[in-house]
Amino acid sequence: MRFASVVHDGNDVAVVIESDRALPLIGFPELGTDTPLSALLEAHLDRTTTLPLDELRYRALVPNPRKVICVGLNYLEHIEETGREVPDYPVLFTKFANTLTGPFDEIPCPPESSAIDYEVELTVVIGKPARRVSREDALSYVAGITVANDISVRDYQNKTHQWLQGKAWEATTPVGPTLVTLDEAGDLGALTLRTTVNGQVVQEASTSLMIFDVPTLVSTISEFTTLEPGDLILTGTPSGVGMQREPPLLLKAGDVVSVEIDGIGRIQNTFV
Ligand code: MG
Repeated sequence: MRFASVVHDGNDVAVVIESDRALPLIGFPELGTDTPLSALLEAHLDRTTTLPLDELRYRALVPNPRKVICVGLNYLEHIEETGREVPDYPVLFTKFANTLTGPFDEIPCPPESSAIDYEVELTVVIGKPARRVSREDALSYVAGITVANDISVRDYQNKTHQWLQGKAWEATTPVGPTLVTLDEAGDLGALTLRTTVNGQVVQEASTSLMIFDVPTLVSTISEFTTLEPGDLILTGTPSGVGMQREPPLLLKAGDVVSVEIDGIGRIQNTFV
């Protein structure tokens, strides 16, 4: 199944997507803490109200998550292009809820930066509380997956050893458009990710190249904190980021950037 947080006619509503239409989940304005996977699967659908997809504006898939945890350096070729060492424990950092934006929203270029970059990432949505879960059990705590673009403000990311401001810039991380449940997502270790900038493919890789796979990440993170429904885990990007290209390919107003995972979804944003 596929779920989304959308605006229709000025109203926030969580929906299930069925082919060319959306059906509201009665009582749920958005996906998040209040929509564990069990609630999504048991929710009553308003079948009297069919929403045409072209009348929807997609919000950030989870507009107000309690946590957004991101993994840095999770693909070998990307680590090599950054010149860093291969980690034996995931490099983790965070974003805020207000870092997120809709999957088709315009993204304002921060006027303070001259180094805005893209990163396609498989993103996990947690479906029930998870604390100290084993790698073997980890996927049972996952509601599904989606796509995100971990837009990075490189000059601010590299000001200090902490990446915070370069990764948590307000309204720069599009996520969505839909939550795809695991039964429909296929093998999480065999998905193809892709980024295009103005139509040119700049990143293309398989999730089989991940160093820490999804079960390992969920298990590892749940060791130190309780993962809650609606929490997001951005699982890292493959090689091909703009900063490491020769010459560098940094984003500017007017650029159209898409990130996608085959069979899962596609995000497209215009920079303004
Ligand atoms: Mg990233």
